[in-house]
Formats: sequence, structure tokens, C-alpha cells
Amino acid sequence: MHNALMADHYTELLKLLREAATLSSMAELLGWDQETMMPEKAGTYRAEELAMISKLAHQRATDPRIGDLLAACEADGALRANSAAQANLREIRRDYDRSLRLPEELVAEISETSSRAIEAWKHAREQSDFKSFLPWLERQLHLQQRKAECYGVPPGGELYDALLEDFEPGLSSAELERIFGPLKTKLTPLIDGVTSSGRHPPQEALQLDPPLEQQRAFHRRVLERIGFDFGAGRVDTSTHPFSSGLGPGDTRITTRFPRGGFADALSSTLHEAGHALYEQGLPKEQHYGQPLSEPLGLGIHESQSRLWENHVGRSRAFWVWALPEAKRIFGGACDPISVDALYRAINTARPSLIRIESDEATYNLHIMLRFDLERAMIRDDLRPADLPSAWNRRIEQDLGLTVPDDRHGCLQDIHWAMGSFGYFPSYTLGNLYAAQFWEALLLAVPDLEQQISRGEFGALLGWLRREIHALGRQLAAAELCRRLTGRALDHEALMRHLEGKFGSIYNLSRR
Ligand code: ZN
Repeated sequence: MHNALMADHYTELLKLLREAATLSSMAELLGWDQETMMPEKAGTYRAEELAMISKLAHQRATDPRIGDLLAACEADGALRANSAAQANLREIRRDYDRSLRLPEELVAEISETSSRAIEAWKHAREQSDFKSFLPWLERQLHLQQRKAECYGVPPGGELYDALLEDFEPGLSSAELERIFGPLKTKLTPLIDGVTSSGRHPPQEALQLDPPLEQQRAFHRRVLERIGFDFGAGRVDTSTHPFSSGLGPGDTRITTRFPRGGFADALSSTLHEAGHALYEQGLPKEQHYGQPLSEPLGLGIHESQSRLWENHVGRSRAFWVWALPEAKRIFGGACDPISVDALYRAINTARPSLIRIESDEATYNLHIMLRFDLERAMIRDDLRPADLPSAWNRRIEQDLGLTVPDDRHGCLQDIHWAMGSFGYFPSYTLGNLYAAQFWEALLLAVPDLEQQISRGEFGALLGWLRREIHALGRQLAAAELCRRLTGRALDHEALMRHLEGKFGSIYNLSRR
């Protein structure tokens, strides 16, 4: 629809939505600053700033004027005939009705509590002191239960589903069980096979830890090549890497340089870059503030990061191109490393305690246990005070490991401190979508691996841009998945990927 022909009520509606989005992006910018630059003592005041801006953003998003304009647009035959406008209106309605369900004080209280709980969590994690975090976890859990009650339990569902809807629109915990159940059944023998194979790929290739400046230069080289727009984004350092799609022309990522070597650091950067490429590919210049320019749920967002991190960054083809680049930048330090040794080292599978350090196979077990535990907490089947022992038991059962302290156990992740209950499943959904999309990509671009081994990523990014990024929220995630892959989401493509890779590295016999 041409601008001049757009109904006034639609134009005004979009203007109000843009203002609400602008306020939200300011809050996100303050959050970015808190994680990257903010001095430690500013935490309490930052909480106040964030609470105020979140309150304003919520007021804007729930302005009764939006309701009036929306009703006028929904009754407008010309708008109903336009499929993009129709998708926009459907999603605006969903968001508007949902945000109306949350009282303003609750939104402000959650925002302020989260900000302070994050500071408490950082301290508790450092000291491995669960007791000092417990009151914050209890408070946050209580707020999240209230939030879920305000949203309301969907028909046939449970309280947890109301929170899940924030991250995975249209998905229920029963559906998650349907997908996760067979995945766990197949993963367990694969991991057992790897563990009992007695093979341990040499790790020397990973020990190399070049000076930070050289590593930053290497990351920049890779990011430029895969299509990250530095004119519209930046890369900084934080304890917990994350990405922020702040607004048109402003997409930021952070990374970290752990003393675990250059390949691990690049992996983390590629992950966040996958998120960032999605944000940079959304049509924000035209549709900022509207669902048409917004990401389609976290699972799809995560599929973009996993695709670049795992299907690209942990492939042999990628390192055929990237290792010579690294050698050039690191100046001799990694000359003895071969592509094959590096490929095996970065694809080592071994049960470990820390989610973000785990391999592609065991990673999903970390997610499933978090899903079960947070769901139990929301149901009041698990008291926060009992979280450490429940956590440690599951790690023992699922991964055969003993948790030495809570820092390596239930205090390792920021999510519950942030109030993000219902978020964890998105990570495994991302792995599942990525594997299913990757198979579709290989059909669409048959010489994809050869292109990657030459450092050519244009066809890959082009497909993602066209088939996924450009759509915003026009389709539901389940529809998008069917359209691109011909099937509903399931465990099969991911298991083919993992069994193929680890089967050959660990010489496992095919079952
Ligand atoms: Zn991610």
C-alpha cells in the first residue's frame, strides 16, 4: 500500500507504536550500558532509571488511543485486503491485548526487582553464595507467577504456558514435552557412545591464546566477511555475551575472551553475530515499531545464532577459510595447527557442568533440566530453597557429574535473576530449527559448503534474509518452519546432524 493511500487511523497507529518502541529501545540501551560500561556503584540508580522508562514504555504501549485506532483499522476493508497490513494488525492486537493484562505497578516492580536481582546474582555467583540470592529468587518467582496469572492460563494449558508465550508465541509446555522427549531418548545413547568410546580428540589447537588485540582483529575480519554491518553495529566485551537490536541502524553484540583459547571466543562472537545479522536483516527502516520489523520469537532468533555458531563455525569448511586468516593475523603463533586437528578439538563432546561451555550434544540436556526445574518452580512443586539440591541431582542423573558448588550449578545463569522464566526452552528450539533450516539451505544452495570453504557467505545470508529476516512476524514460527522445511519442528534433523558429526569423529557404529 502506498503511503498516500494509507488510512489516517493506520498511519497514526503506526506513529504511536514507533514512539513506544523508541522508549523500549532506550531502556534496552540502558541495559546494554549496565552490562558493558556502567560503574558498579550505579546499580541502584540504574534500577530507578529503568523502572521509570519501562513504566513510560508500558503506558505508551497500553494507551487507550491505540485500542481505538486499532479497532478502526480492523473495521477498514481496504486494510483487511492488504496482507502485510493484515498481519501487522493481527500481531498488534495480540501485543496490545497482552500488555493490557499487566498492571502498571507490576511491570515497574518486575523491572526494578530484576535490575537489583541481577546485581545480587552477580555477587552471589562470584562468592558461590546461593543463600544471598535466595530472597531475590523467591521475590522474582512470586512476581512471575503473578504475571502469569494476569496473562491467564491458556485453555488446556498451565501457568507456565502464559510465561512461555512471551518467548515462543503459540507454543505450550505439552508441545515442548512432545519435542523434547524423543530428543532426550536419542541424545542419551549418543552421549554414552561418545563417553565410552575412549577417544579424546587432542586439545592443543584450543590452548592457543593470542593477544586480545589480535583476537579482536580476527573477529572483525570474520564478522565483516559474513555480512555484519559495522556502520550499523558494534562489538564490546561483557561477562555474559548478548546481542541487542536497539533500533534502525543500531545492533550491538558483546563477546568475551575466556582463557580457553581463540576458537571458543570466536564461537561466542559468531553466536551473537547470528542474532545480530537477523536484527540487521529485519525491515526496520520501513517498519520500525511494527510487528513487520520484529523478530519472530526467541526460538527463531536462536536458530539464527546457532546456525552461524554451529553449522557454520564448527564446520570443517569454515576453518578451511578461517584458519589461514587466523594464521595471518596471529603471526606464526598458530602455524602448527591443522584444520583437521582444530575441527576435532572444537567438536569435542564431553559432559560438563556449565551450559555455555558445553558441546552441541550435551547442551540440550542442560536446557531440558532447566525447563523441568523452572516449570516445577512456577507450579510450586519445587521451592526455590530446594533448587540447589534438585539441580545437583539432575546433573548427576543426566550427565553423571557431581556439582562442586552452586557457582558451577544453579547460580551459573542470569535468566532467573532477570525474571526470564520460560526462556530456556528457546535455546534448544533454536538448535532444532537451525538443523531443520540447514537441511533446507543445503537443498537450496547445493554447493554451500564449497562456498563457505572459500569464505563466501553471500548465498547463505541471502537465503536467510529472504526467507526469514525480511518477513518479520508475518508468519507464526510453526508456519515458517513448515513453509521452509515441509515439516513441523521435530528432533530428526538435529539428531542427523549430531549423529553424523560425532559418529565420524568418535568412530561410533551406526545404530
Ligand atoms: Zn543466543
